[in-house]
Amino acid sequence: MNRPDLTHQARWNVPLITEIRETGKRCYIPRPFEAEDETEVAIPENLRRKDDPRLPEVSELELVRHVVRLSQMNYGVDLGPIPLGSCTMKYNPKINEAIARIPEFALAHPLQPEETVQGTLKAMWLLEESLKELTGFSGISLQPAAGAHGELTGVLMIRAYHRSRGADDRDEILIPDSAHGTNPASAAMAGYKVVEIPSNEEGRIDLEALEAALSEKTAGMMITNPNTLGIFETNILKINEMIHEAGGLIYLDGANFNGIMGVVKPADMGFDVMHINLHKTFSTPHGGGGPGSGVVLVNQKLEPYLPVPRIKYDKKRDFYNLSYDYPESIGKIHGYYGNVGVIIRALAYIARMGGTGLRDACITSVVNANYLMKKVSAVEGLELPQDPAIPRKHEFVASSVPLEKKTGVNTLKIAKRLLDYKIHAPTIYFPLIVHEALMVEPTESESKKTLDEIAEAFKQIIKEAKENPEIFESAPTTTASYKLDELSLAKKPILTAKMADDLEKTH
Ligand SMILES: *Cc1c(COP(=O)(O)O)cnc(C)c1O
Repeated sequence: MNRPDLTHQARWNVPLITEIRETGKRCYIPRPFEAEDETEVAIPENLRRKDDPRLPEVSELELVRHVVRLSQMNYGVDLGPIPLGSCTMKYNPKINEAIARIPEFALAHPLQPEETVQGTLKAMWLLEESLKELTGFSGISLQPAAGAHGELTGVLMIRAYHRSRGADDRDEILIPDSAHGTNPASAAMAGYKVVEIPSNEEGRIDLEALEAALSEKTAGMMITNPNTLGIFETNILKINEMIHEAGGLIYLDGANFNGIMGVVKPADMGFDVMHINLHKTFSTPHGGGGPGSGVVLVNQKLEPYLPVPRIKYDKKRDFYNLSYDYPESIGKIHGYYGNVGVIIRALAYIARMGGTGLRDACITSVVNANYLMKKVSAVEGLELPQDPAIPRKHEFVASSVPLEKKTGVNTLKIAKRLLDYKIHAPTIYFPLIVHEALMVEPTESESKKTLDEIAEAFKQIIKEAKENPEIFESAPTTTASYKLDELSLAKKPILTAKMADDLEKTH
């Protein structure tokens, strides 16, 4: 594997910027205010700071070197694969980044008059139309800033729907035990009781348990399909019929739309509302937890409750405007219009891929996941907790239970050792229903050669576990940070950086 070894950066032992600071050093000296009292007018006396802020004081060259060193310590999808299940760490084409940075998009102010931002509004409207086409839904809001935020928005709309019908006493949301933790959190935040539905042997929703849980208390159900095991709920039509018959609505957690995008429309499966993570499927990087977008889509039942403002297109005037004229709306759930940069990237990505391109990306992601699943599950010591004959969608979940029993090397240790093989670890210990879970999502971006490298790394690591298990006590040893001491991280975390001279004072 010809990805760079990060050991040399580790040897540099990059200090914190507060440690290289020297009093009086400056990068750039701003011109002082001409009008002496300009700030004094604006800031009341009691709010004005008495001392200068204690900022790191370094020269420009020191700052540049510091930041470049930090960037070289990092690992990202531009350096190697990140098979992090449930995250869809696909490659984000740079052209989408360039388009989002066009100044007319990037520098637009949210309070500009509509007639001066017609291009941005049109781009947002075009994305809305594209996502409606891809999902089969009739209404959409681009406002939610993340998947979890989209879930909350969706559940609040379900609540508004029941309230409008005088069905306030429906206070339960059903959620399968394989769901992402955000699902029960969102339902609880919207004021609902969460009822957990167990999975069956196949890793799918248990229909009998579902039947038993449905009642006149049911407000709805949140379903992830394909579920977090990468398995498609083949009974989805039946399930959705059962919930509708009980008077509930059905939420689709479509955070990972990659596994069905362009092949099936969720509205056709009977869902009433869904969210999509633009920062997973549609080309916004999200390794560092930057701005995201969890757009929500709804069918006609829920359209009246969508957040405001909504973008409207007046065909006669060829004019895009924002309308607040929806009296039943749940209101605003984000400042202004959502994360516009993410929206532009998604539109650029969709426009460049086209419908068949998106479908190809989906199919390739599924083929890649199944190919890698076959190879990884063939390694002795790893197993598939669910039937290997069930095809997976965009991801699969393996378990290291047999290896752990035999050698004591568990999933956490495998994940750490993978870093020495220059491969980002998969998601581990999720979903919670699988012991020693390794949740792998290779995405469509990776070549067969890279998939073979990943499988080979697993194979080598399992061999090491049997022959040389002491390696795992210190791994990883080739990364910018060595193995972290998890106990002191949890018990004595240092969460604030102190200036070097403050540190001296406290020691
Ligand atoms: C990522 C993810 C979420 C949450 O998305 P955020 O943007 O992190 O809030 C919800 N459900 C599933 C299945 C996910 O993979």
